[in-house]
Amino acid sequence: MNSNYHVVIIGGGSTGAAIVHDLVLRGLKVTLVERGELTSGTAGRHHGLLHSGGRYAVKDQESAKECIEENLILRKIAPGSFEENDGLFVAITDEDVAYKDTFLQGCAECGIPTRELTAKEALLLEPNLNPKTKLAIQVPDATMDCWRLPMRFFATAKQNGADIRPYTEVIGLLKQNSTVTGVHVRSHVTGKEYDIKADLVVNATGAWAEKLSEMADARVPVRPTPGVLVAVYGRWNNMVLNRLNRPSDGDIIVPQRELSVIGTSSWFAPDPDRLGLPMEHVERMYERGSQLVPGVKYARMRAAWSAARPLLGEASPTVGGRDLPRTFKCFDHKERDGIEGLVTITGGKGTTMRAMAETTSDVVCDKLGVDAVCRTREVVLLPYWAYYQ
Ligand SMILES: Cc1cc2nc3c(=O)[nH]c(=O)nc-3n(C[C@H](O)[C@H](O)[C@H](O)COP(=O)(O)OP(=O)(O)OC[C@H]3O[C@@H](n4cnc5c(N)ncnc54)[C@H](O)[C@@H]3O)c2cc1C
Repeated sequence: MNSNYHVVIIGGGSTGAAIVHDLVLRGLKVTLVERGELTSGTAGRHHGLLHSGGRYAVKDQESAKECIEENLILRKIAPGSFEENDGLFVAITDEDVAYKDTFLQGCAECGIPTRELTAKEALLLEPNLNPKTKLAIQVPDATMDCWRLPMRFFATAKQNGADIRPYTEVIGLLKQNSTVTGVHVRSHVTGKEYDIKADLVVNATGAWAEKLSEMADARVPVRPTPGVLVAVYGRWNNMVLNRLNRPSDGDIIVPQRELSVIGTSSWFAPDPDRLGLPMEHVERMYERGSQLVPGVKYARMRAAWSAARPLLGEASPTVGGRDLPRTFKCFDHKERDGIEGLVTITGGKGTTMRAMAETTSDVVCDKLGVDAVCRTREVVLLPYWAYYQ
């Protein structure tokens, strides 16, 4: 080790949480800096759907396969963090019914288990479903707590020796010639600025990845792609509900404790700090959500918010947010931009946080000449509250 740390990770979302856990398990000395509270970026504000991969099984099979694999691993290493409630893909119209075979074939190709239900069986499971329901397909989706799950990774990493610093913003990268040697940060608690030196810097800033990499004159093809979510009072369904059709707006309802969260929409935002909350998207969530569960149309709103997906892709006028893949990629900026000492991980889903960390940690260990295998598939995580002990 040439610096205070082997690795400094920037970004305390689900991806950063899983990377810090992975790297300390491999014996590295690691610090993680997050400009706000932990998970205050996209990770703490998503739908809370542990994907089976069904949603991507037709158009984005790489991501679907990642989801089903990680779905099973996360249930094993984070017991108690999920409602084992499964999900239904529900056909309301003839067009939805016509999509069934394509959907079932995609799921089969991706290894996602399915069970076909008649309308009567689906309505027995979910009485608030649209009475026009024609059939449904059951898949192993689940509800997750998008704050507590990453906190379990942070808790375990902290107990294993990681140094985790919330409210610490990277405002510059330290560089010697074309090598990144650490970060220059400002503490939002003390107002002080200081340097943290490290042998390698990992950029895990999600939708902010491009902004961050520009500090090193490097580039990442990430497109901040926000969506709106609306939480309404009442638990209108117990299973995760999806429309049986191509992914579209307002076609998912996730039960979260005593609320139901309807989502989502999709647009491009040049700046992930300025998303706004378009009211027409909020209205669309009500309108589309009520096609699945008519009662939500009149349900009182608890909250509405937006968050930005960090999707992989170059800016293009002909490509929409729904066309971009949900898979992830780790960039070694030595290969991409001739900048040594900086690695970026972006794309992916909350569901694939562990896999993203494994890929990144393999790259990190390779670059640092560390021979250590990934153990995160087996190590059971501490409870979230252990972070505060
Ligand atoms: C509307 C919506 C719904 C979604 N629903 C689901 C779902 O149901 N299931 C699922 O699996 N996935 C879902 N996703 C995707 C998922 O939320 C994201 O893929 C995931 O949260 C990204 O996590 P991350 O750690 O990569 O990014 P983030 O959580 O955004 O973490 C990056 C962090 O970097 C920090 N940061 C930025 N700049 C700096 C800096 N200069 N210094 C220090 N820190 C910095 C930010 O504050 C942020 O906390 C959804 C996404 C959206 C937008």
